[in-house]
Amino acid sequence: MATTKIIYFVVEGRPEQAEFPSDCPAQDVKEVFRAAAEAGPYDILKLYNTKGNIINISPKLESNTRQTQYKLEVVAADCKTDSLGSELAAALGFDLSAMEKRLQALEKKILVDSADMPSVMYEMRNRVESFRDKLESVEHLSWLGLFKELTEGTNKPSPFYHKRSLRKTKEECQQVMENYLHMSSLEVTEEVRQYLKTPTFDNWQWEDAEIMVLLQLMYMDLDFMSKFNIEMEVLQQFLFEVYRHYNNIPFHNFKHCFCVTQMMYGLIWLTDLQNKMDDIDILTMLTSAICHDLDHPGYNNAYQPDNNIFRNLTTEQFKRIREGMIKCVLATDMARHNEILNQFRSIMSVFDFNNKKHKDVLTMIIIKVSDISNEARPMDVAEPWLDCLLQEFFNQSDMEKLEGLPVSPFMDRDKVTKPSSQTGFIRFVLLPLFIELANLFPNLEQHIIDPVRKALDYYTEMEKALEMEKLNRTGSSQSDKIGKPTENQKESKRVQIQLSQTKP
Ligand SMILES: [Zn+2]
Repeated sequence: MATTKIIYFVVEGRPEQAEFPSDCPAQDVKEVFRAAAEAGPYDILKLYNTKGNIINISPKLESNTRQTQYKLEVVAADCKTDSLGSELAAALGFDLSAMEKRLQALEKKILVDSADMPSVMYEMRNRVESFRDKLESVEHLSWLGLFKELTEGTNKPSPFYHKRSLRKTKEECQQVMENYLHMSSLEVTEEVRQYLKTPTFDNWQWEDAEIMVLLQLMYMDLDFMSKFNIEMEVLQQFLFEVYRHYNNIPFHNFKHCFCVTQMMYGLIWLTDLQNKMDDIDILTMLTSAICHDLDHPGYNNAYQPDNNIFRNLTTEQFKRIREGMIKCVLATDMARHNEILNQFRSIMSVFDFNNKKHKDVLTMIIIKVSDISNEARPMDVAEPWLDCLLQEFFNQSDMEKLEGLPVSPFMDRDKVTKPSSQTGFIRFVLLPLFIELANLFPNLEQHIIDPVRKALDYYTEMEKALEMEKLNRTGSSQSDKIGKPTENQKESKRVQIQLSQTKP
């Protein structure tokens, strides 16, 4: 059984605490500290015990008390802050693995008390790790398994060059911001306001500046502006920062951020959540949805002075929101899908809206549902999203082929078809999750379960039709070929794939 660990520490004079399950992945623990320190994704974090020794930030951290609190220090990453991949690769000189090996050897030689690792060693270890993080986290490159390839030491051109253009240009951002500011002064009709509260909302009709107006509207109509004393200009700056930090990629872009947020907004209204949970939890959920796929952990951006929508909150409220957001954003990692779903199942029969733990799990479930909710939308809204997702997959597999990397089978344009990618995912991942949420809120059945079932029928039919076509083309004798994957195999593969994706 995992117990919850509480680590007290002080960072820049501020007392903070980090809470995480003892079986939490090391990376998540680091993220908790990183967020608390408001550190950039590549900054180096150093944690000191009361004796002044550096200790490792890991799930194994020894619990302490406020009296024996640790001290956290942030060292700015000294590689060029503009972390463009090509420069980075050059700066790295591809010797990362060699460096790691040397470090490991050194670590073995030096007898270190794990709690009192010499700081110089620790510094080196941190640097290597931060380089690795950088490589793995640059604009979804972790998908590529690029890191391993790069460290093998050849000088072939890397997808980094390609990725560079995916960032939004300054001009593009300025134009959108101008349009947004202009439009935000206009009145939004009651009809749109109501439509925005439904899962049938069609994102494809709106351009980015309009989407920013719609996001702003959500904060207004949930009364967050007055309840949390959020100034309009600050909210607008915040939304602009968010917009700026979603890249121009086929799927995980600003429109995806909007869809997830809008589905959550719809669920909040449909479940009358405002009368069941605290406003601050709902503010946390909505803001988490907005930030959940930012190209690097969004916490820093959210807390900079002129776009900090939480700046008028009390320290207590601020802390609660920050911790809640970390929980929510980490919950969208599909690697944790079963864990979170099982947690929810185990409390379902005794669910209590007065129980904080129960509510925490529910918020994670709701953001997860929202994150993969495209199939709950009308087919003409949902289907283009599937094309976008496959496009993003195919781009990756094409690059993998170019790079000579093994191609992830579910991303291979020669192997994947639309229906084959959908049926298993809907059956084994989507439906079980959605059904659990609808168990708690039965009126959701018609809004999110029925359309998903329809989508499943649709893709099952399409899959059959494609199979038939193939049979007709190749002759029926081919159909029983040994080694042809059965439907079940295909489906379970898709499920594994979805589960192993870092971000849906
Ligand atoms: Zn997402």
